[in-house]
Amino acid sequence: MIDLTYPNYPDVSIRHLPQFVWPEGKQSGVTIGWHVDGEAGPVFWEREKAPQHLGSISEAAYGITTALPRILELHRQFEIPATFFVPSHVIERHPHMVEAIIKDGHEIGHHGYMHENIFGMSYDNEKAIFEHATNILVHFTGKKPQGWSAPGWGVTAQTFQIMCELGMSYDGSLMEHDRPHFVSVKAGELVELPISMVLDDWAMFGGGIYPYSPSQIMPAKHAKQIWWEEFKGLHHYGGLFHSTFHPNLTGRPGRLQMLGKLFEKMRNVDNVWWGTCEQAANWDKTIDKKHNSDQ
Ligand SMILES: [Zn+2]
Repeated sequence: MIDLTYPNYPDVSIRHLPQFVWPEGKQSGVTIGWHVDGEAGPVFWEREKAPQHLGSISEAAYGITTALPRILELHRQFEIPATFFVPSHVIERHPHMVEAIIKDGHEIGHHGYMHENIFGMSYDNEKAIFEHATNILVHFTGKKPQGWSAPGWGVTAQTFQIMCELGMSYDGSLMEHDRPHFVSVKAGELVELPISMVLDDWAMFGGGIYPYSPSQIMPAKHAKQIWWEEFKGLHHYGGLFHSTFHPNLTGRPGRLQMLGKLFEKMRNVDNVWWGTCEQAANWDKTIDKKHNSDQ
């Protein structure tokens, strides 16, 4: 029998700020997001075997030990702030990485403990992951994470509920809009800093060795063209360019050179606001408060 009843969508409401403007009256915004999945990527899927698969683990670790220092250097060169979403297991394995990111003034965001795709998970398990990962982040960074971006884009109303219960400030996992806005559930409200599959390098360069998933290996210049076109479009419409770059993918030498050229072109465009995700979320809350107090 075909089910023709109306599906049960979750109770998440979206609130836009009609008065939304970028800081200092800028036309559009950029938050460079890096997803530092490291070993947690393969190990989440194959917890017993993946740690023994040196090919897969070394490919994942490349993003941290080899690529990350170069990525930080690139950000220093162009004075571009960034948000690094890091699974807490990766922080435990590479504590020096956390120090280097923080030393350069970047933000570290929540990205699960073992890069768990929490879609369909029970409330208790999901909350346990959020709390465990948060405690590790606090231990290593000295600061509670303000936001998260969903591993594998697995996010539900339950996730927002948990984030509100933990006093977090923003999510960066949804794709319906392209400007900062608010999402609310029973427990409260979060700023949403929307992402896009167009700005996710997995579509261009993604793939897995073990567990195996097919690889896409696009010329770096094509990715540059796609991201530049999207940047110009978002700038035209006053949107947010929120990237999802992975150090083991876009941090490969040829691609990193391409990213340098892209950063240079983007930096030469006037009237663009650049900041971390936390700064973007704080700004959204500030103008919302100001509007409410003006009324
Ligand atoms: Zn990730």
